[in-house]
Amino acid sequence: MEPVAINQKVLILNQNYQPIMVIGGKRAIILMYLEKVDVLEHYSDYVHSQSLSLQIPSVIKLKKYTRYLRNNITLSRKSIFLRDNHTCQYCGKKHLPLTVDHVVPKDKGGKDIWENLTTACLICNNWKGNKTPREGGMMLLSIPKKPSFVFYFQQFVKSKQHSWRPYLFMDPVKYD
Ligand SMILES: [Zn+2]
Repeated sequence: MEPVAINQKVLILNQNYQPIMVIGGKRAIILMYLEKVDVLEHYSDYVHSQSLSLQIPSVIKLKKYTRYLRNNITLSRKSIFLRDNHTCQYCGKKHLPLTVDHVVPKDKGGKDIWENLTTACLICNNWKGNKTPREGGMMLLSIPKKPSFVFYFQQFVKSKQHSWRPYLFMDPVKYD
């Protein structure tokens, strides 16, 4: 259990709450001991040594603002489906076999870029064939774009990273 627990992914926020990096639990604990960070959220797991037991941090925040270069999000099938919420961008259906569709087909000069790739179910993709949406009489539900920087971090969020969600704008604010 312990080697797994210490390898949990930890989200680091800058001093102004901007997400900057995902690191391993071990590195996060070192940063805690160096008093470089405040711990905002914990996992339910602990690491134990002879003298102490420590709850693994889940979200930490730098005490001092630090300049970081922004990562680039890798363009992949997986990241396109994630951007489009696993939803066909032509018919709006979920839970269908999904494909990546070139909005402007490749042989019409369409490129492999975020702005030209969208999620389409098999049926819509076959229907569209080698046409542009206009030629196929189809409408896109969203204009494909390069995802925001925060999206990079959202990819790491599984059920265990529930506590990250408010920091990555994944949970709507509740007014009640
Ligand atoms: Zn569809």
